[in-house]
Amino acid sequence: MASKRVIIVGGGIVGLATAFKLGRRLPRLAITVLEKEEAVARHQTGNNSGVLHCGLYYEPGSAKARLAVTGIQEMIAFCREQNIPHEVCGKLVVAAEDTELPRLQALHERGRQNGLQGLKLLNPEEMREIEPHVGGVAALRVPQEGIVDYPSVCAVLLEKIRAQGGRVITGAKVCGLRPTVTGWLAQTARDEFAADFLLNCAGLHSDRVSQLAGEQREVRIVPFRGEYYKIKPERQFLVRHLIYPVPDPQFPFLGVHFTRLIEGGIEAGPNAVLAFAREGYRKTDINVRDLADALGFSGLWRFLGRHKRMCWEELKRSFSKKLFCQALQRLVPEIREDDLESGGAGVRAQAMSPDGLLVQDFHFVRRQNVLHVLNAPSPAATASLAIGEEIAVQIERDLSQ
Ligand SMILES: Cc1cc2nc3c(=O)[nH]c(=O)nc-3n(C[C@H](O)[C@H](O)[C@H](O)COP(=O)(O)OP(=O)(O)OC[C@H]3O[C@@H](n4cnc5c(N)ncnc54)[C@H](O)[C@@H]3O)c2cc1C
Repeated sequence: MASKRVIIVGGGIVGLATAFKLGRRLPRLAITVLEKEEAVARHQTGNNSGVLHCGLYYEPGSAKARLAVTGIQEMIAFCREQNIPHEVCGKLVVAAEDTELPRLQALHERGRQNGLQGLKLLNPEEMREIEPHVGGVAALRVPQEGIVDYPSVCAVLLEKIRAQGGRVITGAKVCGLRPTVTGWLAQTARDEFAADFLLNCAGLHSDRVSQLAGEQREVRIVPFRGEYYKIKPERQFLVRHLIYPVPDPQFPFLGVHFTRLIEGGIEAGPNAVLAFAREGYRKTDINVRDLADALGFSGLWRFLGRHKRMCWEELKRSFSKKLFCQALQRLVPEIREDDLESGGAGVRAQAMSPDGLLVQDFHFVRRQNVLHVLNAPSPAATASLAIGEEIAVQIERDLSQ
């Protein structure tokens, strides 16, 4: 393996965790991570909720379920070993009204099928012992979930990759990929990098990077912005830990919730609105290429046709603090519009198929000498070390053939 070279496109948590795992398995491999920004973790990894998800929601047997269940354990162990601030504070999933009870019970069953221990259905009295200001008629207590700052995890991964002899080059946007006799040539504005194996972890641009390597872009990345509010300091007593709604199966995301941040403070959100730019963190951000790409994709029109009402409601909530607050009041009735201050936003890289369905599971496409990570939405930050390990095993096998 001594003379073999691997290029990883993308210095988010998935690319970095894989570089770390690969370097640990194969110390003599030459690993280079190419990141287009001036620092790592600038996109999804640096703009998320910072929650450690344990695998509650995902279809039993799916890659998401499998990798979240092992991934959260690995992530917590890594944070402990490396002294990265984190906390396993547990979460409540709250049924706001009786009609949500069957879905709450189904979620409990799903969690058990995914092997989660200690889940418990609570009555209103029991739930208010944990979260005194929560509303609703019942809740599911999920003890193993927690909070962390993923950019801090990435800072440690970066150090470890370099200590193992790997390179992480920032300001290096991959703009061309050429197949060669032995592998690939990755082109940036300044340099060219030869590789025996190429790994695409480019998040919001993963479909485009796959196209540079000759893929057809069967599934397309559609950017969904998630906007947050912050709770004013004097009202933060309303939320102790993590309070989530019961997800609506018609709705592809989890719904707005309350999250305590490891560095202090409480966030409320994120909602989910179509973004007019893949890296569009503000409502006014428009990127003509991204917009034309999205509007020219038949899958998006099918998705909009199928989820008209939901998209409209989300859009209204994005522009109306009052409506956003009403969604939060289903979980914590005492929260008032006045308690909310504008927070940040993140953009999810969500893969969509041409028939307008969101790709629910993690999606990897493997070809000779290349692997594309084409869908790594939540809980991929939690699961990143487990994802990295699985990809590293795959690359080791491919390189030794
Ligand atoms: C609002 C929001 C909330 C979330 N909450 C959670 C949560 O609480 N818990 C959880 O587990 N997950 C959460 N997620 C999901 C999680 O953030 C992502 O699954 C994870 O960060 C994906 O990591 P990544 O490395 O694949 O992508 P990214 O972090 O987006 O990294 C991709 C990198 O590739 C780089 N890149 C792109 N194109 C090129 C190119 N051509 N050349 C070089 N570099 C390139 C980008 O600059 C970027 O740094 C959330 C996501 C969002 C948006």
